[in-house]
Amino acid sequence: MSADHLPLTVVWAYRRTGKFAFHVLTGALETDARTAAVPVVFANGVEAMVAAIGDARARGGRVLVGWSFYSPDAAAMTAELQAVKARIDDARVLHVCGGVHATAEPEATLRAGWDLVAIGEGERLVRDLVDCVANGGEPRVLPGIASLGPDGTLKKNGRADRIALDDFPPFGPEHGRFGPIEITRGCIYACRFCQTPYFAGANFRHRSVANVRHWVRFLVGRGFRDFRFLTPTSLSYGTRTAEPDLAAVEELLAGVREEIGPARKLWFGTFPSEVRPEHVTPASLALLQRWVSNKTLIVGGQSGSDRVLASSARGHDAACIERAVALCVEHGFLPHVDFLLGLPGEDEGDVEATLQLMDRLVARGAKVHGHTFLPLPGTPWQKAAPGALTAEVRRKLKNLASKGQLYGQWEQQEVTAQAMAGRRSSR
Ligand code: SF4
Repeated sequence: MSADHLPLTVVWAYRRTGKFAFHVLTGALETDARTAAVPVVFANGVEAMVAAIGDARARGGRVLVGWSFYSPDAAAMTAELQAVKARIDDARVLHVCGGVHATAEPEATLRAGWDLVAIGEGERLVRDLVDCVANGGEPRVLPGIASLGPDGTLKKNGRADRIALDDFPPFGPEHGRFGPIEITRGCIYACRFCQTPYFAGANFRHRSVANVRHWVRFLVGRGFRDFRFLTPTSLSYGTRTAEPDLAAVEELLAGVREEIGPARKLWFGTFPSEVRPEHVTPASLALLQRWVSNKTLIVGGQSGSDRVLASSARGHDAACIERAVALCVEHGFLPHVDFLLGLPGEDEGDVEATLQLMDRLVARGAKVHGHTFLPLPGTPWQKAAPGALTAEVRRKLKNLASKGQLYGQWEQQEVTAQAMAGRRSSR
């Protein structure tokens, strides 16, 4: 056997934020005859990665180290990559980075030290990449792979094809790696601050009810008691437009309930997904009341200023957020409303409108989830100024937080936003 045909081990740089993406990629490898037997190791942190790569090298052959993370974690992950490479410098070890950040910033990612970038959705590409490397092929020519040429210029082969969710498992069952079932990918809304539509496309692709039920049944068989779903907008299940298809949502929820029975928990419209405020109606709430276990609904609000909502292309106004909260409370749900502070173009009046709306929502019984705007790569606002809060805004938010009416990472995100903008301008 030549050195090029020695066995391959896949090591995932398995950090918390990218965790479910690795489960999905593992499921894709498990379900392709070409890659099902390739060993996959989940290594969390530098020491675990060095150990996993060392073990794989001791067995001979090549090692593909897969990375995936969100833009705010790019600096920390780059430091981890450099720490791993400082300990193991071996041409048989290939560091590949995929996901939303790497797709939006392939050149910066390659210049930071990754050997290859996987552009676009990973399920099909990871199979082709692993098969190619395992057989001693040249991964740089694969569609969806970007690399730096010998002269240091970026070489891109387009992006990986978008997939149909039904064609892939929602996690890695053979490796016992589970997570929420992704029911919808892509988003028809194009909120200017959000990476989702720019990465996954500006239309909805839904997992079929039959396929969701298949995986729910599988999880029931494994003893799971809680069932969660991943979607950019929960009440958009089954539709292709901005108009919800409540019959499709009901078919999904009734089907899942039939699989899990009355005692297990069905979480929908809450973590890790949310509902858009204009989709909150007496009819949709009655439907949720009938089928779901959660009493909390996460509602995307983002701003109390109609001007800022319009400029960020949210597709609803502030009154709509207030109506949604009132309806949630009337129907016995506790609304948690997401807000983004420091959005581009916000003036004092806009900020005041947001703070006043927060007060009114809290008075109605809602909780506020505060975020600070991050200029995310790949979005129309990637070059905008990072979200910054005035001392007065911070004081008001802390006051709400002290009463248990607001929570979130808004303070840390303000620091992260500044750091992201600093790195952007230094490139
Ligand atoms: S914020 Fe939500 S609704 Fe807007 S584009 Fe992103 S996923 Fe879609």
